[in-house]
Amino acid sequence: MSTLRISRTHFPVTALGPGLRLGIWVQGCTLACKGCMSQDTWNPVGGTEVEVDDLVVLWRKAVGAGADGLTISGGEPLQQPAALRDLLRAVRRETGLDKDVLLFTGYDETELDEVRRGAADLVDVLVTGRYDVAAPTSRIWRGSANQRMVLRTELARRRYAEYVDHEPESPRLQVGPAGDGGVWIIGVPRRGALPGLTQDLRAMGLPPQNVTWRPSRDSTPTGE
Ligand code: SF4
Repeated sequence: MSTLRISRTHFPVTALGPGLRLGIWVQGCTLACKGCMSQDTWNPVGGTEVEVDDLVVLWRKAVGAGADGLTISGGEPLQQPAALRDLLRAVRRETGLDKDVLLFTGYDETELDEVRRGAADLVDVLVTGRYDVAAPTSRIWRGSANQRMVLRTELARRRYAEYVDHEPESPRLQVGPAGDGGVWIIGVPRRGALPGLTQDLRAMGLPPQNVTWRPSRDSTPTGE
């Protein structure tokens, strides 16, 4: 039985991909992009180790509640490629081809070895590349201008074509409960938006958790 080390899950996610989505944030990333907003997901022994079967049950419930797709972020999902492949195969078996899978990875496609490619081949849409704090972007669901949205299936081309170059006036963000009365942010805030957002949340009595918010003085973190 394979297990995946995860940081958290959330349903419904509406800020990372079209429609209603189950979000799974994987734990562990060694890529260490400067300005990463998700440094709490770097530790490879942090988070929680969960059975892939339990995540499949979560996915089944999400589909029953109207999920249009699955979004996987992190952390670096492709640093647990075997478990991720098992999860994605099971998701495919469960729901066929009308629910899309969107995967955020810090790797470029050219960096993928055979095992990582085996997992990546099971997704509809890849958002690829390191977060580059020096290359801001307004494109939807990307943290920096170097990151590419790769549409790999017919479903992806049908559902995501309009988003490849889309630049929303302001990106959609969600606030999720993080325990202790705090919150964490789902989505990709635009450069420079975090200080004001932090202030607003504090004013509402919803302190952003330190572990998921590490805005530095000279950079705007990315939030995958
Ligand atoms: S931005 Fe993504 S790939 Fe880069 S360090 Fe953070 S979690 Fe890892």
